[in-house]
Amino acid sequence: MNVCRAKHRNCGFRKCRIFAVETDTGKTLLPPELPDKQDCDVLIVGGGPAGSSAAFWLASNGYKVVLAEKKVFPREKTCGDGLTPRAIRQLEDMGIKDSLSSFHKYFGLRTRAFGKELTLDWPKVPGLPEYGYVVTRYDLDALVLENAKAAGAEIRQGCEAIGVKTDNDGVRADLRDKLSETSFTLRAKYLLIADGANSRLGRSLGVTRDRKLPFALAIRGYYTSVRSHDPYIESQLDIYSPDGTLLPGYGWIFPLGDGRVNVGIGLVSTMAKWKEVNTTHLLETFVSQTPDSWGLCEKNRLSEPTGGKLPMGMSNAPLTGHRYLVAGDAAGLINPFNGEGISYAYESGRLAASVLSKAVRYEKPEALAEYRELLDIHYGSYYKVARLFLQLMGKPNLLRVLVSTGMNSKTVMSVLLKIMANLMTDDDIGIAETIVKTAEKLTESVSG
Ligand SMILES: Cc1cc2nc3c(=O)[nH]c(=O)nc-3n(C[C@H](O)[C@H](O)[C@H](O)COP(=O)(O)OP(=O)(O)OC[C@H]3O[C@@H](n4cnc5c(N)ncnc54)[C@H](O)[C@@H]3O)c2cc1C
Repeated sequence: MNVCRAKHRNCGFRKCRIFAVETDTGKTLLPPELPDKQDCDVLIVGGGPAGSSAAFWLASNGYKVVLAEKKVFPREKTCGDGLTPRAIRQLEDMGIKDSLSSFHKYFGLRTRAFGKELTLDWPKVPGLPEYGYVVTRYDLDALVLENAKAAGAEIRQGCEAIGVKTDNDGVRADLRDKLSETSFTLRAKYLLIADGANSRLGRSLGVTRDRKLPFALAIRGYYTSVRSHDPYIESQLDIYSPDGTLLPGYGWIFPLGDGRVNVGIGLVSTMAKWKEVNTTHLLETFVSQTPDSWGLCEKNRLSEPTGGKLPMGMSNAPLTGHRYLVAGDAAGLINPFNGEGISYAYESGRLAASVLSKAVRYEKPEALAEYRELLDIHYGSYYKVARLFLQLMGKPNLLRVLVSTGMNSKTVMSVLLKIMANLMTDDDIGIAETIVKTAEKLTESVSG
């Protein structure tokens, strides 16, 4: 296939031939004259990170895009609000740099476990910034959607996709405009499904989650804190149930720089008695165990905590179908190591846009098959390792040995941070694999 297989995982696909062609503003990428049978080239369902990114890249290259979003932005979205260097790279590529500067910039991760604490800066990785931001999704998603609109995408807010049908000519979608309380049908050549973790639309077209793979649940709340301006985000790697059991997951405190912090916990479904988990109680327990210096307590909680499901590790399939692609959480692309999904939503939206633009431009629906191949090139080996890691997460004794040993060395934890945030070069994948395989062997000796 005619795509670049260069080592470009961390460079925001800079060297990828597909992106080089599709995003080079010096070239004319408008499709050749085509009979205009459809209302638009691509209908995107969902205006979160995946949908907005795809809309931006398609529209800025001259394609006719309609994005239907059922909510009216700005809107709340349950999230930890943490943006890593990977996400920042994508935002900056979309021209969103200056508007980020009014939000809270941070420089790395302070990690705590088993009574020890380490402060780790983001590593130097070519093509990526050495900082991240913490931005509420209320602000962030509105910013990115507006950016797509400015690039030329037609944004329909308050407009829910109720059902879609695909045929040889394209896609017919039934939409309900909640604002005018009217329903209408929209025809598009192609469809991008970016409707999030529950992906009703994806399921209606046969996209399913591989039930053998674990998933995660996370819950978060906003609190006032005297350390809201802290230049590091914080994670607690040993979290416990109220009865003192060590849990597979982590807790976080992400400072927003405006007097608030986002506090949450995420848990992987590999643990025993998973179905009995009460995440609200676990969050309360976590908050009560955070260092006093944050000043976190129930009195400082600003609203009821909310939670959600995290589909991880490329767990959903198929991600390409007749006339449609699936991106972001709807594709199950969250990073299993750390629960990060925003950057993968931006990236997969961008990859989808590159493939969709090819299909439109050359009137070649078969081109959509390249999307799966691109996802495999960019994420395949990483997610293979990540899935191994998830199996280990279900073994509390091993977790205890690994994490407490790792916390003795800043060097080891810095490497782990690189792995967990997917900030490695291709060569580092080998290191990641070795670490997980060693851990597997350790598991056997610990349980045996
Ligand atoms: C508690 C929690 C904490 C998290 N913390 C982080 C974090 O700190 N950092 C990070 O990177 N990731 C985090 N994630 C993951 C992150 O939130 C997701 O990976 C990310 O939102 C995925 O983006 P998306 O565009 O695929 O989906 P979404 O952001 O869910 O966007 C989907 C959009 O589609 C719209 N929609 C749905 N159905 C329809 C329809 N039928 N018609 C029209 N519109 C529709 C929805 O209204 C929504 O706006 C967290 C998740 C949870 C649950």
